[in-house]
Amino acid sequence: MSGFFIMSIPNFTYDFLEEFPGDKSFNNFPRQTPGMLYALVEPAEFPHVELIHFNDKLGENLGITKDETNFLAAQHLDSNIKTYASAYAGHQFGNWAGQLGDGRAIYIGECITKNHKRQELQYKGSGVTPYSRHADGRAVFRSSLREYLMSEAIHYLGIPSSRALSICKTGEKVVRDMFYNGNPRPENGAIIIRSAESFLRFGHFEWLAAQGDDALLKRLIDYCIIRYFPEIKDTSPHRYLTWFQKICNATADMIVEWYRVGFVHGVMNTDNMSVLGLTIDYGPFSMMDEYNLQFTSNTTDLPGRRYAFGNQANIAHWNLIQLANAIFPIVNNQEGLEDILTLYADLFWNRYDKMMGEKLGLDFIKNTDAPLLLEWQKMMDKLQLDYTLFFQLLETVEETSILKHFESCLYHTLSQEEEKHLVNFIQKYLKRRNENTISISEAKAKMSKANPRFILRNYLLYQCIEKADQGDFTMLNQLFDALQHPYENLYPEFNQKRPNWADEKPGCSCLSCSS
Ligand code: AMP
Ligand code: MG
Repeated sequence: MSGFFIMSIPNFTYDFLEEFPGDKSFNNFPRQTPGMLYALVEPAEFPHVELIHFNDKLGENLGITKDETNFLAAQHLDSNIKTYASAYAGHQFGNWAGQLGDGRAIYIGECITKNHKRQELQYKGSGVTPYSRHADGRAVFRSSLREYLMSEAIHYLGIPSSRALSICKTGEKVVRDMFYNGNPRPENGAIIIRSAESFLRFGHFEWLAAQGDDALLKRLIDYCIIRYFPEIKDTSPHRYLTWFQKICNATADMIVEWYRVGFVHGVMNTDNMSVLGLTIDYGPFSMMDEYNLQFTSNTTDLPGRRYAFGNQANIAHWNLIQLANAIFPIVNNQEGLEDILTLYADLFWNRYDKMMGEKLGLDFIKNTDAPLLLEWQKMMDKLQLDYTLFFQLLETVEETSILKHFESCLYHTLSQEEEKHLVNFIQKYLKRRNENTISISEAKAKMSKANPRFILRNYLLYQCIEKADQGDFTMLNQLFDALQHPYENLYPEFNQKRPNWADEKPGCSCLSCSS
């Protein structure tokens, strides 16, 4: 029958609310909630909500249709939906920050996907919660679209991540000082829905530890193990060490994957670290254009470059130490925790080397390869070649015309010394690749699996946002298509280094937390 369609949203469940103490006063006013793991909240009402983009594939898996605009924008929700914000704490930029919590994320509940996986859903940008502190609980269209697209791009690159279902404009203007430099301006407000198996963060455990609430801390750890680590069958206290080891493994894997594709998170505070090793809380992130270990995408991070590309491995370790401190009263095994943390560096670098071997198309990494890897890093950091394009070009490089071959990935004219550096490295590299025990076509197959053809560069996001904000969604649709096939060159026009005009443009080269 024409004009007939079935609208739907899933049945949401609330085990977390039943399991743990929460503030049920439905009071959104910012405040401290000691002893509580959540507070029930009412999403804000907005004047005129408008669906801007919907992720059909994720919607299909979640059983949510795009016609449910009110649901997608948290308006006039069904009374079965119990919206809440969770309480957590954390270390921000290396300092203890006390209570933080979901300041502008609101849980919708948990549901089961068509492929039988549990997913938690959240609104982001739907108003003040008890954890908003002095902020407004809103999100602007610019940052919301960045999270919407980037979380999907990271997912399709094969990296564990929260995902994004929909983005709506709220019809409300939100004032932001994009660079905290005294230039506030009104921007369009937006709400996204994001999903993940769980949004539990290191900070949730730090929150309970800081209050010395061992009983509740133990309950949260056990809840986490039973639901998200069901493979841990051990019921002895040793299970807590196994659990921590698994968090370390998942974190190491996630960071290695960020290095593989050149992702810089920008705000690796402990409250933004998922215990499941998922990439979460997309803010001033960036895909790295030119290789630079010191590159940080976050202007707030510029003084110390704590969250720079090359520092992400160390910071993950630092964050894991904070988690170990938090869970210590329950694990009650200092030596065990210390051993895991000490072995973390080896565990990380072994995985990192293996990943680099794949990017370089090597059969495996031998001890004798260490100097080659080091030389590659030095060369890249000095010459600042485009990270993604370099590896694409490496697949087809030959002994002759090396300099010409790499022209399209240069950001500056190379000095003679730099030219020598590049040629020298490539010659050594080709010699090593020729010693492979695998064929050249096998090596190239490895490389094309490890090296993306499409990455969501900041300048592309910037252009897409400018257009979408004016109601032109052509580029948004193209990027949404391209990001679902990152290892195919479907849009050669997007597989280019950052153009000159974007070099110093705010939003293309630097971003702040202001969102
Ligand atoms: P982030 O590091 O950006 O993930 O955010 C750190 C903390 O600030 C979290 O508790 C957020 O919920 C909160 N926050 C960030 N922006 C806002 C906002 N506009 N309104 C309310 N809370 C916010
Ligand atoms: Mg956060």
